[in-house]
Amino acid sequence: MTTRVAEGIRRWRPHTTERIERALDASRAGVLLVGARGSGLADLVVVAAQYLTCPRGGCGECSVCSAVAEGRHPDVRILSDTPSIADVRALVAHARQSADRWRIAGLVGIERMASVAPVVLKALEEPGPRTRWLLAASAIPPELTAMASRCVRVQVDPPSAAEIEAAVADAGIELSPRLLALVPRDLELVHTLGSVPEPGTWLERWAALATGAAHAHPAQIAASLRPPSSLPAPTQEALVRLGLAVAIRANPMDASWGQAVRRASGSLARRLSIGLVLAELVLERPTPAHGYTGRSAPG
Ligand SMILES: [Zn+2]
Repeated sequence: MTTRVAEGIRRWRPHTTERIERALDASRAGVLLVGARGSGLADLVVVAAQYLTCPRGGCGECSVCSAVAEGRHPDVRILSDTPSIADVRALVAHARQSADRWRIAGLVGIERMASVAPVVLKALEEPGPRTRWLLAASAIPPELTAMASRCVRVQVDPPSAAEIEAAVADAGIELSPRLLALVPRDLELVHTLGSVPEPGTWLERWAALATGAAHAHPAQIAASLRPPSSLPAPTQEALVRLGLAVAIRANPMDASWGQAVRRASGSLARRLSIGLVLAELVLERPTPAHGYTGRSAPG
């Protein structure tokens, strides 16, 4: 994440960032941000780390804020996805060391980290006087409730249409109002859109795919959604997710199309390969009333 994004978040999500700052002031061990996927939790964890570390309370402009945003500040360490137990033990050791201002340990996506919960819980029970934990989760499963109870909890709302518009502008993406309306309310996907060349062309392609879906050849659908293999794997996955989300928004009236796309999105959430997801989308697509059916007649 760039410093510009963090700075933007303070500007266009002032109520959310203020609530997180007040929670940090009131916390003994740390804060837990809870919000649906796409509500920008990873960015907000960085903003929270800047609030504690920056001498100006998280200005988003100084060298300290830049170092935090770029993951190179020595007092701040943030892990995401599914870190190993060794990674988390190293994070706990990091959290115990002394710091000028704060020693900060972050875990984004703790709902996927149940196996490391006991290690984190122990650290949260004995936080150092200058240590703060920043945790973020889309949900709190039962095995994480003890961990959650040690933190001051902040519920993060999904981004509004105005916030998405601001995030799109901050990412340097220029879109017509028609294409802007197709961008899903998911800040992670906005970041993805900002990281690919010619984002408007992608949106056009997905929108055309959705409106022509009933008559499209299955191979055409899969080809339209398949991202360039030159992109890193996480970007490819995010791009397919974005394409599927846009396809639903572009053609909300076609319920059967929406169902097929949602099933494909579900497969992606279960971390199947992109090829399998595209195959599933094609195979499970309901037979349209007119046009190409995608299935050969039985017998
Ligand atoms: Zn600063």
